[in-house]
Amino acid sequence: MQILRNIDELRKWRKENIKEGQNLGYVATMGALHDGHLSLISHSKKDNDKTIVSIFVNPTQFGANEDFDKYPRDEQKDIALCQNALVDAIFLPHRNDMYPSDDEIKILPPHTLSSKFEGALRQGHFDGVLQVVSKFFHLIKPTNAYFGKKDTQQLLIIKQMVQSLFWDIHIIGCPIMRDSNGLALSSRNIYLDKNAYNEALKIPQAINLVKEAFVNGKSHTDELEHIAKVALNGLEIDYCNIVNMQLEPIKYAESSKSILLIAVRVGGVRLLDNYWF
Ligand code: AMP
Repeated sequence: MQILRNIDELRKWRKENIKEGQNLGYVATMGALHDGHLSLISHSKKDNDKTIVSIFVNPTQFGANEDFDKYPRDEQKDIALCQNALVDAIFLPHRNDMYPSDDEIKILPPHTLSSKFEGALRQGHFDGVLQVVSKFFHLIKPTNAYFGKKDTQQLLIIKQMVQSLFWDIHIIGCPIMRDSNGLALSSRNIYLDKNAYNEALKIPQAINLVKEAFVNGKSHTDELEHIAKVALNGLEIDYCNIVNMQLEPIKYAESSKSILLIAVRVGGVRLLDNYWF
């Protein structure tokens, strides 16, 4: 596995290793890798000739009072995990490589998808995500790029970016990986103490109750959202809504067309989860 520390090394690796007609798969991460990230890598390995992973804690997607400084970082462990997963190359750029200037061209996310949920609560977050992802796409030129459904809004906005800009990259959404108790894996789960962790298990429980109710014929979103909110009782709910693929409110949940989006705060930690009907 090649460890690429700057843009020159990345360009050289790409030129020497990806032949005309070969598929390159790409997984973007902020490190502190877990089985969620590894599942994206494994999807990429199945579909492509080569797989590259980027590890970069992107400063521009964090708000001023968010956890950029204390975001978990463990480069040696991440390198070992990628090596184990038979990744072909890791790109670990320095902040100054990615942002040589602080006044530059930016791609703006579409209003409909970005003005609510995470976009409303984290001002400028998706501007930062598109800024860094577009740079990575230009440098890496992947055939296929893999993103988790864990971050549904991010996935939908990136899909929209690629479509709007006629960008020849396939965006593939991958299922949420969970721990043995059902909690969605996240690099931020390490902030949870035992008590907060146990409280956080109300999230997958809420999702399971909604799933069960839907399977049993309930589809009115008021009713399904109520079931979820009752199960989340005691947690600080940022949002718990059922929406369509444009993230607009809907009256009835429908298979393959609707998503339950949940964001809560538990013991000072923000956790996201969702369910695609
Ligand atoms: P992050 O390092 O948090 O920026 O995440 C990098 C990628 O991994 C994003 O596409 C996430 O949606 C995805 N991801 C994070 N957690 C999970 C999970 N539990 N299951 C599947 N994908 C995930």
